Amino acid sequence: MSVVTYQLQGDVGVIKVNNPPVNALSQAVRQGLKESLAQAQGDASKAVLVICEGRTFIAGADITEFGKPPKEPSLPDVLDALENSQKPVIAAIHGTALGGGLEVALACHYRCAVPSAKVGLPEVKLGILPGGGGTQRAPRLMGVEAALDLMTSGNPISAKKAAASGLVDKVLGDDLEKEALAYANELIAQNAPLKRVRDINIDPASIPEGFFEKARKQVNKRARGQIAPDRIVSCVEAAVSLPMDEGLKKERELFTELVQSPQSAAMRHAFFAEREAAKVKDLPKDTPTRDVKKVAIIGGGTMGGGIAMNFMNAGIPVTLLEINDEALQRGIGIIEKNYKITASKGKMTEEQVSKCMGLLNGTTNYDDLSDVDLVIEAVFENIDIKKQVFSKLDEVCKPGCILASNTSYQNIDEIATATKRPQDVVGMHFFSPANVMKLLENVRGEKTADDVVATVMKLAKTINKVPVLARVCYGFIGNRMLKSYGREAQLCLIEGATPKQIDDALEKFGMAMGPIAMGDLAGLDIGYKAREGLSDAEKGDPKSYKIADVLVEAGRLGQKTGKGYYKYDPETRARLEDPEVQEIIEKVAKDLGVERREISEQEIVDRCIFGLVNEGAKVLEEGIAQRPSDIDIVYLYGYAFPVAKGGPMFYADQVGLDKVYARICEFRDKIGSETWAEPAKLLEKLAKEGKSFGDWAKENA
Ligand code: NAD
Repeated sequence: MSVVTYQLQGDVGVIKVNNPPVNALSQAVRQGLKESLAQAQGDASKAVLVICEGRTFIAGADITEFGKPPKEPSLPDVLDALENSQKPVIAAIHGTALGGGLEVALACHYRCAVPSAKVGLPEVKLGILPGGGGTQRAPRLMGVEAALDLMTSGNPISAKKAAASGLVDKVLGDDLEKEALAYANELIAQNAPLKRVRDINIDPASIPEGFFEKARKQVNKRARGQIAPDRIVSCVEAAVSLPMDEGLKKERELFTELVQSPQSAAMRHAFFAEREAAKVKDLPKDTPTRDVKKVAIIGGGTMGGGIAMNFMNAGIPVTLLEINDEALQRGIGIIEKNYKITASKGKMTEEQVSKCMGLLNGTTNYDDLSDVDLVIEAVFENIDIKKQVFSKLDEVCKPGCILASNTSYQNIDEIATATKRPQDVVGMHFFSPANVMKLLENVRGEKTADDVVATVMKLAKTINKVPVLARVCYGFIGNRMLKSYGREAQLCLIEGATPKQIDDALEKFGMAMGPIAMGDLAGLDIGYKAREGLSDAEKGDPKSYKIADVLVEAGRLGQKTGKGYYKYDPETRARLEDPEVQEIIEKVAKDLGVERREISEQEIVDRCIFGLVNEGAKVLEEGIAQRPSDIDIVYLYGYAFPVAKGGPMFYADQVGLDKVYARICEFRDKIGSETWAEPAKLLEKLAKEGKSFGDWAKENA
């Protein structure tokens, strides 16, 4: 069946797109639109309606065509045909009209939408800009400021908001086809003109002086090194100052620049990597999953409370178990407070909050867990306590109940030995704050059953998380790699850099927060406590943790005590350099016999980031991660690695593995192998073969 059909219904020529699942703008759709439009020009129709079957209007470009040679007709050809139609063309929007989909609607003469519809231009999220006239038409319709916001945020807006801004002409009732036809007939009856968006001129005098400079500054501040938002500002500026055709030329020029940029390659990589990460290589697609209708959380502290909220938000009842009533009430109180904050920001209604809270039950009695389908343990990070908890769970939980641990470091296989059902034990490692952070690192134990793995991967979607699958090792994918990153930051600190130099360098690279400031945020006592359980050999080089130990022992635990590596302004929480810390650093360096020297910004970045990459390569060669792109997802969603760099492994590929390998060898030789771990075998092999992690992924798909 054709993906686009044309039929005359009374006076209206109806072009219907039917390209499931989301009516993507494939070559066949583009061609169908063009042909139907040509047909409409020659028949008795007085107006043309573009409408879609299924769950949405054209949702956007066809992602399978990404990176392939363009196929005729191009989107601009189709848009020209729509705009130059001799009969008014009306787009009828339902579902989500995004990107190229919305650009099709913008090239029409009128737009109507059902109330539930959403429209948006999300290209910026792939490091590009709307390249089908969107940057020229959106500001002409909705004004410069609203259009900039739409395109630089990439976030969709509701039909109502679109109508209020002028992007959509009419909000229909719920019955799409009937109401859209009525609107088309109404326009015919009014003899409505051919309202071409290109004919609208934006009066330059209406733009306040310095507006674009300010906008550029704002987007650059928000964008953490991304260039696309800046180019979008340039396009909108062109929409004001240049005639339409010249504006379109400018848009094409900047679009081409962005499409070819390493940033957009990185962001497209991230887009596909996210989809890939949810797949488990050795599990057939039809692996059965277990029903999860009721969940229990053990421990209502920082993590337990946040984890509980994820399930409550998804409408799944949660039983929270704590050691005593006091701890339980505290835990419930924190959850309640978090919801109140969300509601006060207007992100949830009071009604939604009470509905969620209604799904929460507290208990101190394990017998209340007998009917749950999944338990997530989030008690103190101590293997003995965790094993005690699992042994109790083994006694009370029904057969088939999944027993998960949110441990950051502990061995899932060892935890599983506390039960008689190791096949039901799995890691579900959430990130803090657990109700906000998108990453869910699921950890597959030696004996974890396939259907348990399939269930926790699928469950991630239900609670709106991005899952990645890891195998067991100390710290799994994310925290294990973080250790190398943190170690290099610590070494730079003791060898001569200040906390601020290190954080500035990595924040300039694009990390949301530098590693030293991150330590202060998380609390320096966490690492301190974790080290207490380790042997000297496991702790590694004292140069990599001694400063932190001294700070903790001096009561400087980080933000929560108002001071750590920095001191924090009690009012603004601004981080300030502290001479006392500098003294501590210098003393520890002296005690450990380290001669301090000047360390360049480049050295800081290379040591920390290549530290991640090197450990990532080890994680890969040991089979802890399934694919290099999974490691990228862990870092993008769990550690705020800059998306414009695609994740540490993709970044290393872009730098070139030969260069990365050479630089790691250089550090090892200069600084000594006791401080710089040996290059990973896999990294060495790929570098010498002139290959990338991407090549490895293809060979090991
Ligand atoms: P937390 O100290 O804030 O909370 C732990 C809670 O567990 C406390 O409320 C305590 O009363 C309760 N608890 C202790 N023993 C218990 C028992 N036997 N039965 C029932 N409840 C018990 O700790 P947290 O930061 O929420 O960490 C919990 C787990 O999550 C740890 O394994 C940690 O490694 C992991 N984790 C923490 C983070 C983080 O950033 N905080 C991130 C990911 C994973």
